[in-house]
Amino acid sequence: MKTPDCTIIGGGIAGLSTAIALQQKGFSVALFESAPEIRAVGAGISLAPNAVKALRALGLEAEVTAKGKVLESMDILSQDGASINIVDTQLLTEKYHAPHLAIHRADLHQILLSKVLGDVVRTGKRAVSAQQNTDGVEVTFHDGSTHQARALIVADGIHSPIRKQTVPGSEPRYAGYTCWRAVINYPGDLSGAATETWGPKGRFGIVPLPNHQVYWFACINAPANDSRCKNFTVDDLFVQFRDYHEPVSDILKHTRNEDLLWNDIADLKPIPQYAFGRLVFIGDAGHATTPNLGQGACQALEDALVLSSVLEKNRDVADGFRIFDVLRKKRTHYVVNRSWMLGKVAQVEQPLAAGLRNMLLRLAPTGAAEKQMAYLYDVVF
Ligand SMILES: Cc1cc2nc3c(=O)[nH]c(=O)nc-3n(C[C@H](O)[C@H](O)[C@H](O)COP(=O)(O)OP(=O)(O)OC[C@H]3O[C@@H](n4cnc5c(N)ncnc54)[C@H](O)[C@@H]3O)c2cc1C
Repeated sequence: MKTPDCTIIGGGIAGLSTAIALQQKGFSVALFESAPEIRAVGAGISLAPNAVKALRALGLEAEVTAKGKVLESMDILSQDGASINIVDTQLLTEKYHAPHLAIHRADLHQILLSKVLGDVVRTGKRAVSAQQNTDGVEVTFHDGSTHQARALIVADGIHSPIRKQTVPGSEPRYAGYTCWRAVINYPGDLSGAATETWGPKGRFGIVPLPNHQVYWFACINAPANDSRCKNFTVDDLFVQFRDYHEPVSDILKHTRNEDLLWNDIADLKPIPQYAFGRLVFIGDAGHATTPNLGQGACQALEDALVLSSVLEKNRDVADGFRIFDVLRKKRTHYVVNRSWMLGKVAQVEQPLAAGLRNMLLRLAPTGAAEKQMAYLYDVVF
């Protein structure tokens, strides 16, 4: 194979969108993915206006919108269904010139994969280490094979072995809560509102998708890798959330055990550097965040555009990566830190403290939240 301009490790949202962005700027790419095929987990994902603008810049907004659902509001509710905070996403759409979308991850992945040109994706190749040399970076795979890269873009997610090798101690950090997710067929009418219910038994999120599908998630506090949680069934979740307002129970009634996806929630404590000579970390490999702000994939899409743009302007790869590092660090660290804090607030389970939190949030001035949204969504690519 001809040595390509850029080698990407990982075919998730970060890796695929970066491949597309680089090809659009005239770079050749090679992408190595560990899984036997590129495929997303069976869950939904929300894409905030900054992500939709990134997709617009990639020429993908119309296709993603056609497969997704435009969210009309995002409401935080208490256990009895009373409103704690409502974000009118239609107003945000006007203000930040892009909607808030929800989409099945499989659809987003399919669209991204279909836009990577040529036979450049190699599956079944798990990168285990990388070594810089005078020609660039040599990657070693689990099967003992190697690949010489002129520039190496590492997008292999939170458990990235190359990041662990390059940044010692950069292990995932458990957030203290665990999460079940599912996409189900649901006949009930949810309109376009996404909701997140904060109560003493945990958090329950409901996100409408097109075609009468619903993406839901449930987070409860638990020890890491808890054997009790590992064996949780829909019935256990039903018991856990039985005191919550409808349609929580009804949605669980429409869920089968085989629909459940279970993960402990973890992030990466901000690392001081993303660029190391001709090697750079992007997406979750560099700045994995807890999902509380719904920004992990959004930031991965931003990475793709910023990286392709700096490489177009700086044909010296190391210079381009260094500039990327400067442009992306503050913003992605902000997301990781804010999301971590928000998770701590949202997961309060002591009933008195949870009640006080809800009351304070209802009374809180909207200025801080608006400032945060402006920072996240008011971007131009
Ligand atoms: C419960 C939950 C809900 C979330 N909700 C949202 C949301 O609503 N909105 C949002 O913006 N974000 C959300 N996120 C975050 C989002 O899922 C991630 O930030 C995003 O998927 C990161 O994409 P990535 O490509 O960087 O990493 P990944 O999705 O982890 O992709 C990495 C890819 O690399 C491959 N790989 C792994 N190791 C290797 C290796 N050694 N060699 C080669 N390939 C390898 C993997 O198979 C995978 O294909 C959520 C996360 C969670 C856990």
